[in-house]
Amino acid sequence: MFLTSHTAAAILIATKIQNPYLGFLLGLLSHFILDMIPHGRESELFDKRADHRQRLIRLAQLGIIDVFFAGCLLVSSLYFLKPVDNIVFFSTVFGAMLPDFLFYITDFLQIKFLFWFSKFHHYIHDFLHIKYAMKYGFLLQAIFVVLCLYLVFN
Ligand SMILES: [Zn+2]
Repeated sequence: MFLTSHTAAAILIATKIQNPYLGFLLGLLSHFILDMIPHGRESELFDKRADHRQRLIRLAQLGIIDVFFAGCLLVSSLYFLKPVDNIVFFSTVFGAMLPDFLFYITDFLQIKFLFWFSKFHHYIHDFLHIKYAMKYGFLLQAIFVVLCLYLVFN
């Protein structure tokens, strides 16, 4: 899933707990659970003829947009959720984002000792072997983000 979706889940978790270590663990766990939910055929995001370098560039472009939306979500939540404990908030968000950062860094820098993690991340993504059009994946994630925000603020 997109970082924006993981961030929305982390914000919801952070509003329900007080312990930063628990926040980190639940954030991490939520990442893998959300990634297991089929969320659209990600191959549609890339040109079929693209080589590894072109795919990385495309990934970076999408990543910048995703980080922008996740950042907006973070900043606005921090603004509107002032009583929330900042350490719990950031440790939960960090736990929820860490797997994707590790995955991208491993892929981009070709860090051999973390290749097992990349394989694990792919395995989780394809766990249910259900593929469908990416437009529905976008819709699913948009609904999920709105639902999380609704639960945070109500
Ligand atoms: Zn992921």
